[in-house]
Amino acid sequence: MTLPVAPHAPRPALLALDEALSRLLALAVPLADTESVCTFEADGRVLAQDLISALQVPPQDNSSMDGYAVRCLDVAQALQANGAAAGTLPVSQRIAAGSTGEALTLKSVARIFTGAPIPLGADAVVMQEDCVPVTTAGAGDGHAVRIKTMPTPGQWIRRAGEDVRQGAVVLSKGERLTPAALGLAASIGLNVLQVTRRPRVALFSTGDELVMPGDVPPEQMKPGAIYNSNRFFLRALLLRLGCEVSDLGIVPDRLEATVAALQSAAQSHDLILSSGGVSVGEEDHIKPAVQALGALDLWQIAIKPGKPFAHGRVNDAHFIGLPGNPVSSFVTFLLLVRPFLLRLQGVPLVIPVSIALKAHFTGARADKRREFLRVRRNAAGGLDLFGNQSSGVLTSAVWGDGLVDNPPGKTIAFGDEVRFIPFSELLG
Ligand code: AMP
Ligand code: MG
Repeated sequence: MTLPVAPHAPRPALLALDEALSRLLALAVPLADTESVCTFEADGRVLAQDLISALQVPPQDNSSMDGYAVRCLDVAQALQANGAAAGTLPVSQRIAAGSTGEALTLKSVARIFTGAPIPLGADAVVMQEDCVPVTTAGAGDGHAVRIKTMPTPGQWIRRAGEDVRQGAVVLSKGERLTPAALGLAASIGLNVLQVTRRPRVALFSTGDELVMPGDVPPEQMKPGAIYNSNRFFLRALLLRLGCEVSDLGIVPDRLEATVAALQSAAQSHDLILSSGGVSVGEEDHIKPAVQALGALDLWQIAIKPGKPFAHGRVNDAHFIGLPGNPVSSFVTFLLLVRPFLLRLQGVPLVIPVSIALKAHFTGARADKRREFLRVRRNAAGGLDLFGNQSSGVLTSAVWGDGLVDNPPGKTIAFGDEVRFIPFSELLG
């Protein structure tokens, strides 16, 4: 006698990545809370205010060379003199960075150093390599100088305000701070910046097969057991995106355990992020657990690697479920979770920029789904393909320095132009 069995659920329709991303971003309401952080500590944070300069940078015209500040007319006249004295002018003052000189006396030059303010009356700097110090009778070395070439007005002068004008918005609300941006903020005198608070993210992995490295040595791993790798890169990615991470470890493949983990995480986090168990197999408990506590949209996204992806809510917290396969987990994080977390912090533009490059490979066969291939730039300016594009082969993500965004149905031939997204666009 055969017992009746419940039929397998039909496959849900695949959702296009752009559609999934726009749905996800529509749900990512930016966090309202801000905090003050020391400029030193603000790398990677998102500005919650425009930064407006109260001064001009540089504050005064200053020299970009070690040399002599001159009045071009005086030099032109000195160069007309005959013989060895041609181009010679007395040095009337010395101006180092950090000091201010006096107005330049007529028919003289000022010794000047990089960063020092240009004295009133001077209209060019002659670099010291184009000058010869002259010994004048009774006065000694360096009291006069012979200028060998005619300067052009304005040469080697950095103009006041050429970097920042007074009143200019140097960085805008919603911009993510980079090391250079921290320097720019400091250059207008800001030692404290107002930024969006860090998103609080609870992270857990599901899977009874998972073992933490360090808990069991490789030679004692039971058959079927694997080390938990997702936990390591997901935590690192979250930290790079400015999140505060609560690592909840491994949740066993049981409904009650999954419900309990979600329930406690929902209390104090903006996002609960899980990996694995997000399909519709009997050992996949994410879907019923989130549904028991809140609401869930399970999306089968038409990308490779990737596919299963879930978004839902548990109380006030967002829930995102990533696939368990390491490369799928990695890629879906970069393409979906990263923009979500940036938008949560108030960044308006969160879509990575891709560039056109030539494929220096064959063998990427067309797929029905949009595919993100792990590739690496080569010295010839083209792209090499990692040989094994399986969603379990994490080596591909380490070897690669970016992804080719290949449209559905396209077989790539050697020399084809493809869209390349460097990891530098995705990992910061
Ligand atoms: P799942 O999505 O739970 O069906 O898992 C899909 C595949 O990914 C299985 O082969 C799992 O063993 C593997 N996997 C799931 N979670 C992890 C993890 N945290 N680290 C490494 N592999 C994982
Ligand atoms: Mg699993």
